[in-house]
Amino acid sequence: MPGARKPRTVPCPTCGKPVPWDETSRWRPFCSERCRLIDLGEWLAETRRIPGEEPAPPDSGRESGDGDRSR
Ligand SMILES: [Zn+2]
Repeated sequence: MPGARKPRTVPCPTCGKPVPWDETSRWRPFCSERCRLIDLGEWLAETRRIPGEEPAPPDSGRESGDGDRSR
């Protein structure tokens, strides 16, 4: 394949847009800072999620349960 010297590109992990893999692509492998932040945000969101049960809601506002003693 003579003359097959096309610039190397990688697909942006966030939007799939081809990103030229060279010095000019500052946010590679992402196409832009926005895509980079989006991907980072999703990654953090998944990491922060607690695997398993969610914390039970605070049991407040249940005062009228045991205070009905009329004896
Ligand atoms: Zn992108």
